[in-house]
Amino acid sequence: MPELPEVETIVRDLNKTQPPILGAEFIDIWTDFRKMIKLPKTFEQFKKEIKGKKIQKVWRRGKNILFELSGNKTLLIHQKLTGHLLLGKWELEKGEWKAKIPGPLAEDPMNRFLHLMFWLDDGRHPPTTQMLALSDLRKFAKVELLDQEELKKELSSLGPEPLEKSFTFEKFKKTLESKKGKIKQVLMDQTIIAGIGNIYSDETLWEAKIHPFREISKLNEGEIKRIYGAMQKILKKAIEVKGESISDFRRISGEKGGFDPLRKVYRREGQKCSRCGTIIKRIKLAGRSAHFCPNCQKA
Ligand SMILES: [Zn+2]
Repeated sequence: MPELPEVETIVRDLNKTQPPILGAEFIDIWTDFRKMIKLPKTFEQFKKEIKGKKIQKVWRRGKNILFELSGNKTLLIHQKLTGHLLLGKWELEKGEWKAKIPGPLAEDPMNRFLHLMFWLDDGRHPPTTQMLALSDLRKFAKVELLDQEELKKELSSLGPEPLEKSFTFEKFKKTLESKKGKIKQVLMDQTIIAGIGNIYSDETLWEAKIHPFREISKLNEGEIKRIYGAMQKILKKAIEVKGESISDFRRISGEKGGFDPLRKVYRREGQKCSRCGTIIKRIKLAGRSAHFCPNCQKA
């Protein structure tokens, strides 16, 4: 699942496109999977409402991509398990979308699961109509058009952003003090901290040398400090290299992110720990798996 660094990469790329998508207008929409639009809105209602709206701002909260639109509406896209947004030009050929320009959009199979397409008019003359596309292998992505109140409600359960300046070590420590559970689960709980999932919780805990099953009530101040520092370091690094593409995540250009060679434990079970040479293990925790080094990260 795309996590904070991947979603942040998409948002930063969307804010830098040439021609810019800021100011562009939604002129049409296509889908072959109407359930992607969250009820109670039907696809027809959604289509009617979004047509003519202009993009004013693109930002991120947790793992949500938020397009602020004219008319006080926000298009929320949560890519969930296997979704990622792409920007380009496609044509429908015999019922299949074909990217018009050679490159990763046309060539990487992960960019071919196109189930939702938006046509954008940037108002230029002649118009350079771009398309915003959602490639989603397993079709779990969530797409919603919300007014201000609905958006507020939707985001209200999310915990703080780990990279915000206001999220200091003191605040992190306090957050943990009021919670119970194993550190890996706590880091992944979106209501406690927003944006971290399986990849970056594993990588953070390896960096901090903390076992993923440690109870947070038993962590001492020094250990909490190590987790906080590792979390900041790993997330910043992952954003810098544009995310992790071991699975299906791709940038809006269709290219892969560069975190893969930096990955220390996530999906590396059976390989040697780069710090001590011990074989990395994978264990199950509440239906999810945790990857760790049994020597560096003692229980
Ligand atoms: Zn190790």
